[in-house]
Amino acid sequence: MKDLREFMRADLTVEEEVDPEFEISAMLHRNPRKTVLFNRVKGSRLRVVGNLVTSRERMCEALGTTRGEYIRHIARLAERCDGELVEVDGAPVYEKRCRSLDDLPVLRHFEKDAGRYITSGVVIARDEEHGRNASVHRMLVLDSDKLVIRLVERHLHEYYTRAEARGEPLEVAIVIGMHPALLFAASYPLAINQDELRLAAAILRSPLELARCRSVDLEVPANAEVVIEGRILPGERADEGPFTDITGTYDIVRKQPVIEVTGVYRRRDAIYHALLPSSVEHRLLMGMPQEPRIFAGVAKVARVKQVALTEGGCCWLHGVVAIEKRSEEDAKRAILAALEAHPSMKHVVVVDEDIDVFNAEEVEFAIATRFQADRDLVMLRAMRGSSLDPSAGKRGLTTKLGLDATKALHNLEAYERARIPER
Ligand code: MN
Repeated sequence: MKDLREFMRADLTVEEEVDPEFEISAMLHRNPRKTVLFNRVKGSRLRVVGNLVTSRERMCEALGTTRGEYIRHIARLAERCDGELVEVDGAPVYEKRCRSLDDLPVLRHFEKDAGRYITSGVVIARDEEHGRNASVHRMLVLDSDKLVIRLVERHLHEYYTRAEARGEPLEVAIVIGMHPALLFAASYPLAINQDELRLAAAILRSPLELARCRSVDLEVPANAEVVIEGRILPGERADEGPFTDITGTYDIVRKQPVIEVTGVYRRRDAIYHALLPSSVEHRLLMGMPQEPRIFAGVAKVARVKQVALTEGGCCWLHGVVAIEKRSEEDAKRAILAALEAHPSMKHVVVVDEDIDVFNAEEVEFAIATRFQADRDLVMLRAMRGSSLDPSAGKRGLTTKLGLDATKALHNLEAYERARIPER
């Protein structure tokens, strides 16, 4: 069964007792490229794992593909979105019932965060018209049986808005501790009527086993580590934030919906997945699902070869697009298409296909030798951008840049990269 345990490869195992308040997050922060397993956690019987995904290569391994093939592979699966789901009895995730949220080792990550945050929870819900939805949300622990959930205006927000308009709560199941393919699928920008769990099953190339929930009318992956059942209450809001997000800076306080917890369950020897905000793992899980959409957008205007949201740009604000350039206009068209496809992107560099988009030094080389600011720079003022960029103006307006770092077609000889003959 492809679950968290099957995927997990601990690089570091900590046997001493650690505190979920700051201590675990500090160790994960110091070891961004290491999967760390904490065997004894203060105040909880659960073990904790963090940095489950430590690189783009590991993420691709989880998705059954490679860095080079990733976008084509996933785009194909997402278009069909037809993986198989099977309902099973005797699910491991329901082996034990917890007393409340207090049994879980929910981390406090950064100094000025509002409190303890669940960050790896996939929230499953159902809507009569649109069907099932699975999406990742941060949730602040308010007390033993209350959470406040950040709902950005996507599918779950729409489900909740519809339920609230009827004066009804929205039932949810929050699933923690799964194979990374499930977190990836839950972050993938599917259409509202597509089921993220089916995408996950397709990625895993095996039927995904689901278990019926105990207190809500939903199903959850049977081999998850923890499930929290509850309902998002109509007409109730609480302060959510400050919270350290993908950029490693604090997101603001907002009034957000409240979840009343109706049951907490776990595997007998459950491992809680701690997802450290702004870590490599967080950035890859949030950014990589956007890359196929950028690729598809650029493909409409140029022969696109590769796309990456770079780790230095938090896998969110900076993109690199490689194209096979056939006319002088291709690169500027690619710039505009990329910025449109991922509106949070602020700076994009377009390079020729000989440049490795995953290698920051090669991208810099392209800028150094193929770019002239007076000719190759596109600047767009007062654009809607990411709310996570602290340098953006009030009202979220930002200036965007596109750098055409491709070779000029009329002068290709000048760009020839010298080679040494083999002998
Ligand atoms: Mn959805």
